[in-house]
Amino acid sequence: MKKKYLILLYYHYAEIVDPGAFREKHHLFCLDLDLRGRIIVAPEGLNGTVSGTEEHCKKYMHELESDPILKGIEFKIDQSDIHAFQKMHVRVKDEIVHSSLKHIDPKMKTGIHLEPKDFQKLKDDEDVVVLDVRSNYEHEIGKFKNAVTLDIDNFREFPEKVEELKTKYKDKKVLTYCTGGIKCEKASAYLLEQGFENVYQLHGGIIKYGIEAGGVDFDGKCYVFDNRITVDVNSVNPKVISKCYVCNEPSDRMVNCGNPVCNRHVPICEECGWELQGACSEECKIHPDKRPYDGTGYYAREMNGYNPYKGLYRDKKLS
Ligand SMILES: [Zn+2]
Ligand SMILES: [Zn+2]
Repeated sequence: MKKKYLILLYYHYAEIVDPGAFREKHHLFCLDLDLRGRIIVAPEGLNGTVSGTEEHCKKYMHELESDPILKGIEFKIDQSDIHAFQKMHVRVKDEIVHSSLKHIDPKMKTGIHLEPKDFQKLKDDEDVVVLDVRSNYEHEIGKFKNAVTLDIDNFREFPEKVEELKTKYKDKKVLTYCTGGIKCEKASAYLLEQGFENVYQLHGGIIKYGIEAGGVDFDGKCYVFDNRITVDVNSVNPKVISKCYVCNEPSDRMVNCGNPVCNRHVPICEECGWELQGACSEECKIHPDKRPYDGTGYYAREMNGYNPYKGLYRDKKLS
């Protein structure tokens, strides 16, 4: 059955001359459409994920697609029964994805974009290495079979790992992937800059691969940055790769520890979830501030005093 809401995921590298002014106008437009989510505006482009009714999301996409600055922008579209976010944030930042690669402009040079079906065909070739450029908490819950993963907690650490990758894979075809494709724009460009010669990137990331290639050979779930926490992408040969934090049995049920001080974000199986009432340990279970468990392990952020119009003009100085 068709669901009432859509969740949009997108990014676009483009020169935004006055991010402050762009942000202000964009924020108002989003509020008019009752969209919710997170959008980053930077001199190098736009990156966002929002939810809204189908009608409003279509209007939003149409508006962005008709903006000459954003020519060629693409959306990954998912369905949802409800809003996937509580609030609407539109912020100005230096980069649309926090990296330590500010000097790189993917509009000038980046890895060759592979469509999901082409990525699928190429990924098992002998001279190919599939490289996950995401962080530990993301690839621990799901990744491509045989992918090389990096021990990083943040994408900013990516460049530190490249020396090591050079010694092992410099002569291979490197296929990078991430959630929606945005990190790969810079990661693949950086690999080229570092002397790798055959660098490709999965266009649209895991999300588009799930839609267009059935998610074949993607094990586990894909971590996302909205209330859903993780989504299924593999409808062909799915497999659970993560283990319950408490009992070590296979589980991909992501839970936030009910103790707000701990708030650890880990897989906890159904059984242990009830046993520990949504906490990650006996200690957290008896914490005086532990939140009541409703079987989901998800806690909406407090809406106390949220005013969608607050902060609307705060970036004025930047313009
Ligand atoms: Zn368990
Ligand atoms: Zn805990």
